[in-house]
Amino acid sequence: MTENNSVHDTTRDRVMRGWSDVLNLWRLCNRTACRRTRACGGKPLQCFKLNFPLLPEGVRAWFEGVGQAQDQKLTFDEAMEWLDTTDAGEAFREWTKAVKASVPRQQTLQ
Ligand SMILES: [Zn+2]
Repeated sequence: MTENNSVHDTTRDRVMRGWSDVLNLWRLCNRTACRRTRACGGKPLQCFKLNFPLLPEGVRAWFEGVGQAQDQKLTFDEAMEWLDTTDAGEAFREWTKAVKASVPRQQTLQ
């Protein structure tokens, strides 16, 4: 790794940042900066790798479902529609709701 700032942003970084937002990974991130900005900032791929395993199981299943949908060439909307009908979709909604509910009281913890 030679990059030393976040300006260096590959397509992959952008994709991972998008997913970090969708999955609310910043909520689990141990970087103060990520929690403060409510987005995984610096190195999205790194944040993703660190925080993804901390997500509730159903949410991880949801994300895997997105991958499966992509393999089957579903559009994003079709994928969401399908996932909404699954347990994983339910887990994802619960997670999103929990994060939203936690935000107003959220303070910097360190
Ligand atoms: Zn982060």
